[in-house]
Amino acid sequence: MQTLHASKCGLSTAQLPSSILDVIDSLTKAGYEAYIVGGGVRDLMLGLSPKDYDAVTDATPAQIKEVFGRRCRIIGRRFELAHVYSGRELIEVATFRAPPKKAVTSAAGMILRDNNWGTIEQDFARRDFSINAMYYQPRKGEVLDFCNAVDDIKNKTLRLLGDPALRFEEDPVRMLRTLRFAAKLNFSIDPDILEIFTPEMTQLLRDVSPHRLYDESQKLFTMGHLHRVMPMLIDFGIWNQLFADLPTDITAFIEHAAKNTDQRIQMGKTINPAFFYAVLLWKPFLERCEAHLAKGVAPAEARAQAGLDVLKRQATRTIIPRFAETFIREVWEMQTRLLNPKAQQIEALSNHARFRAGFDFLLLREKSGDSSTLGMGVWWEAYQTMSGDEKERAISQYNRQRAKNRRKTVTTDVVEELKGNTATIEPLVKESESRSRRPRKSQSSSGSSQDFRGREQRVKSNSGEIDADHPIMKRKRVQRDLTKVVFGPTK
Ligand code: ATP
Ligand code: MG
Repeated sequence: MQTLHASKCGLSTAQLPSSILDVIDSLTKAGYEAYIVGGGVRDLMLGLSPKDYDAVTDATPAQIKEVFGRRCRIIGRRFELAHVYSGRELIEVATFRAPPKKAVTSAAGMILRDNNWGTIEQDFARRDFSINAMYYQPRKGEVLDFCNAVDDIKNKTLRLLGDPALRFEEDPVRMLRTLRFAAKLNFSIDPDILEIFTPEMTQLLRDVSPHRLYDESQKLFTMGHLHRVMPMLIDFGIWNQLFADLPTDITAFIEHAAKNTDQRIQMGKTINPAFFYAVLLWKPFLERCEAHLAKGVAPAEARAQAGLDVLKRQATRTIIPRFAETFIREVWEMQTRLLNPKAQQIEALSNHARFRAGFDFLLLREKSGDSSTLGMGVWWEAYQTMSGDEKERAISQYNRQRAKNRRKTVTTDVVEELKGNTATIEPLVKESESRSRRPRKSQSSSGSSQDFRGREQRVKSNSGEIDADHPIMKRKRVQRDLTKVVFGPTK
């Protein structure tokens, strides 16, 4: 073990938020050892800004609770941890861990329960990569380095502690972490890892819970280097473990969406990981649509069924939460609505809660060369920047063109259907369908339907903003009062 001077590693307390210092100071004052460990130390040493800070201590969760009282909550079963609130921030505080007892590992060697407290040396040996196992005591200005990790930082190498095969068997998610950190930090992977990181090894991911794999997939999507990690996931055979039935040839659309996701993160914009799932599963969704249509299923029903089929298959790998599944199906359904809307629905559609995501998706399809969008991505893009008068003109021009096209072709095949020949405004997805397929806890379903009630209200009031003397309202064909148009799924 070597003790490094924090200042020589480019670390200083001035870089740290008061929340983590508060946690370290409170534990120290109560007589415990306390360090910052993991990604926070690693990223600071690399000159990056850490996403968050993790603390580690020799105090047990119960003792941490005593120190912080109501500011502390004990969470987790497999890994018991303390969550400490400092101001608005939440700091994860772990207790030094000893090796797990044999009885709590699975037949394949996977650790199932892990609450055996130990010393700092034991805790170090339990961590995954050398660069994630440096212990920083900011008040003492010291970094404890048990394995010359500082050299791995300098040489930009990702090295697992201990025997790589054993470490992957203990926790197969470390395979995903390997690729995530290699992509995020632009580090090379230690040859000892590469040697055992085989397609057979990735089979171990089958034993990992699909809930945990969903969490990991989210981290992959949101780390800011999705575009870089995708080919790595494919090369190492992780892609097939994460995404059911997804071909390994990345479509231009997926590639474009991945770059776009990374750019958004760089600009500090929020991203919804479910959006990228919608992108990934778009092709399988279209294929399922075709299959249902070929069997004579009506287009709207084919889309609904296809959405459920694809998500059900995906749930065998990563369990996408219910609200995110609904979001994905709504984005897909929006593609139909946005491609060929009825003229009188255009303004209301542009105020729909799912418009933004549906439009972004449509534009990404178009920009990646999907000609079946018929230029409507760019049309909607322009529409949003128009004044009221310009919008009216654009709508009538669009309507004339639409009528002309309709006279030319009347077709019912799926692609046409996806271009939106059923423009009646109906719920984007029927919640009741997914409920019957995958029963879920009533609590979560009531939460999401509340959300939709709120949205419905918003959209109603938005559509009500169209004046009675608006040209659209004067058209003979229009008999409905737009304020009565109901958006959102049926209850
Ligand atoms: P980031 O937060 O930037 O994704 P991180 O390294 O902080 O990266 P966390 O998941 O926050 O990752 O974990 C904190 C620390 O806990 C890690 O740095 C590592 O030391 C340890 N750790 C996390 N997951 C594992 C694991 N599966 N096996 C061993 N150690 C782990
Ligand atoms: Mg972290």
